[in-house]
Amino acid sequence: MYILLMGPPGAGKGTQADIIAEKYSLPHIATGDMFRAAVQEGTELGKKAKECMDAGALVPDEVTIGIVRERLQKDDAKKGFILDGFPRTVPQADALKDILAELGISLTAAININVPTEDLVERAVGRRVCKGCGAAYHIKFNPPKVSGVCDSCGGALYQRDDDSAATMISRLSVYEENTRPLIDYYKKAGLYRELDGSQAIEKVTADFIAALSA
Ligand SMILES: [Zn+2]
Repeated sequence: MYILLMGPPGAGKGTQADIIAEKYSLPHIATGDMFRAAVQEGTELGKKAKECMDAGALVPDEVTIGIVRERLQKDDAKKGFILDGFPRTVPQADALKDILAELGISLTAAININVPTEDLVERAVGRRVCKGCGAAYHIKFNPPKVSGVCDSCGGALYQRDDDSAATMISRLSVYEENTRPLIDYYKKAGLYRELDGSQAIEKVTADFIAALSA
């Protein structure tokens, strides 16, 4: 199964990707990890990407696409994958189509885990992280036994700067603007499947599995 995974920040993409990856023995290929690996392995493309990142510049499309190509050519991706965080633009989607054609692969589905903006803001704003061990809590959905104190290490819980409503709303509007053309792109290709990510984790997984055979 060759799965493309989309969804706004905080929609639970990582959680679902891990569950589906394990169930079907697929590699979860997240863009960030892929970049870090290429940089670490010191490939030509990895070196180029590092130069850009060190200079605080955007990594050009041809470098990003090259890194994706190298990753998808690896043995573990031959039987399938969950690609997460790529493509982000229509030209990248076209490039991915070409890469997959070279590999004799066609996508099974482009899955979008959709969550209403107000829910994502609520999830972000209620998030608390332990200063001691990094454990994550949510004041409403996953509260610690004692308010403000980590269950596992007794450390103090704090709210990350990124988890403010204003930051979240601006991240989401950027995400939505960038993603809308991709949604249309995969709808036209007949590959688009949308999941309601505001449901319980198990229900989202069940819908995910159903969408793969739809
Ligand atoms: Zn802790």
